[in-house]
Amino acid sequence: MRKPVIAGNWKLFKKTAETADLVNKLVPLVKNNRQVDIIIAPVFTVLSAAKQALSGSAIHLAAQDCYWQEEGAFTGEVSPGMLVDVGCSHVIVGHSERRQYFGETDQAVNCKIKAAVAAGLVVLFCIGETLAEREAGRTFEVLRTQLSGGTAGLTTTELEKIIIAYEPVWAIGTGKTASNEQAQEAHAFIRSEIAGLFGNGPADMVRILYGGSVKPENIKGLMAQKDIDGALVGGASLQADSFAAIANYD
Ligand code: 13P
Repeated sequence: MRKPVIAGNWKLFKKTAETADLVNKLVPLVKNNRQVDIIIAPVFTVLSAAKQALSGSAIHLAAQDCYWQEEGAFTGEVSPGMLVDVGCSHVIVGHSERRQYFGETDQAVNCKIKAAVAAGLVVLFCIGETLAEREAGRTFEVLRTQLSGGTAGLTTTELEKIIIAYEPVWAIGTGKTASNEQAQEAHAFIRSEIAGLFGNGPADMVRILYGGSVKPENIKGLMAQKDIDGALVGGASLQADSFAAIANYD
């Protein structure tokens, strides 16, 4: 009932020529059956080149971040409307790297989500605990705070434009994937929290992706879990064959 999503977060990789090359290789490899929402998220500077290379493909284009003001004296920022203008349909918000290295707070994430949804974008809203938080037994508490902070003041209709990505920080770029059971446990918790905040209907509908060292070898096991609706892929999305193998998991 929930349409699966496989998204590739390219992070700070790929210039213009590399972007065109990767997209040109990816498009024929990915099953274009529209049974799965496939998304790529390159850096801002190559979004336009990526859009051009994606022409005729069902793959969606996302940015990796946005600001919450539409325009003004905000040097260095990019607004949601500008992302729509360049051809994005999606945007990642609240990635743990932004929280860790750029001091992004739940409040900032909340402002970004609201602005992005208002501009017509679908948001990939990232949450996840650090290793220290997990080891201290604080995983659920952290997820609860990030979820309620990020979605504060959203209506049920706005929630429909949000895809949640559970990315345990200790699994990102470490090669250490959460086990299927660990991921499922966190996803079930997230869904129950959404039920508490928005009701059972919206909780059943919301798609929850897992992210953190997803590879062709572990995607099937993850996707077999009841509350895992897709993946947000970092490293393995930088090569056409591995990302296509993940996108074509079924
Ligand atoms: P890796 O797949 O490289 O672990 O990265 C996950 C991630 O942060 C996706 O947003």
